Amino acid sequence: MSRNYYMAGNWKMHMTRSEAALLAQELVNKLKDGKHKYLVAPSFTLLETVSAIVEGTNIRLGAQNCACEEQGAHTGEVSVLQLKDLGVQTIILGHSERRHLYKEDDALINKKVKLALKHGFEVILCIGELLEEREAGKVEEVCERQTVKGLEGVSAGDLANIVIAYEPVWAIGTGKTATPDDAEAVHAFVRKVIKRLYGEEAAAKIIIQYGGSVKPDNAAQLMAKENIDGALVGGASLKTDTFVPIAKFS
Ligand code: PEP
Repeated sequence: MSRNYYMAGNWKMHMTRSEAALLAQELVNKLKDGKHKYLVAPSFTLLETVSAIVEGTNIRLGAQNCACEEQGAHTGEVSVLQLKDLGVQTIILGHSERRHLYKEDDALINKKVKLALKHGFEVILCIGELLEEREAGKVEEVCERQTVKGLEGVSAGDLANIVIAYEPVWAIGTGKTATPDDAEAVHAFVRKVIKRLYGEEAAAKIIIQYGGSVKPDNAAQLMAKENIDGALVGGASLKTDTFVPIAKFS
């Protein structure tokens, strides 16, 4: 089964509104003839600005997180209702910076996943092992746990709105990329986990992105692997000079 490549930029906590508007407009211009699926995920404060620019284009609007409750007394949080109001279509959940810097656990991430799906969002569920987990031979154990727990209670129908991003934590923002073979092995394993949970057809359809120091000079080799269906890009997504060649890899 052929899957479309999905190339996403996670802008993390970077840029002001004017900088974000400039980058978004350049991406709209340069990716309009792009053949893949595209997304940018700016900070909450930039969403309204970027939404106005990407609306009606081939670039989707993503948020980097959401609250686990719909609304109410949750100071400092942002709700799915507020994200929908801004035109957000996709929410990145379980990013390693949320898991490790902000101590989000599998149960909390799962609650957010289900809430986002209930409100019709596409979810990019991030999974990935720490360096010490890799060195201890626990890559599969960690990725299986994060996948199974992250998707607990997600129906087969809702799985169509799930994208998985395998991001080995030791490769994020470090300049170290997993080799295409190492990444492929984990992607194939995660697809097997999905097959066990949801069956063969669902496993063949699900998009599994790779993330971790993806750059213009390694994107094509990674994307050439059978089970790698796209990229979640951090640092290199902040400039058109680096994101466009990744997004248009050939
Ligand atoms: C990310 O934050 O999801 C990421 C993969 O970052 P970087 O590309 O900078 O490693």
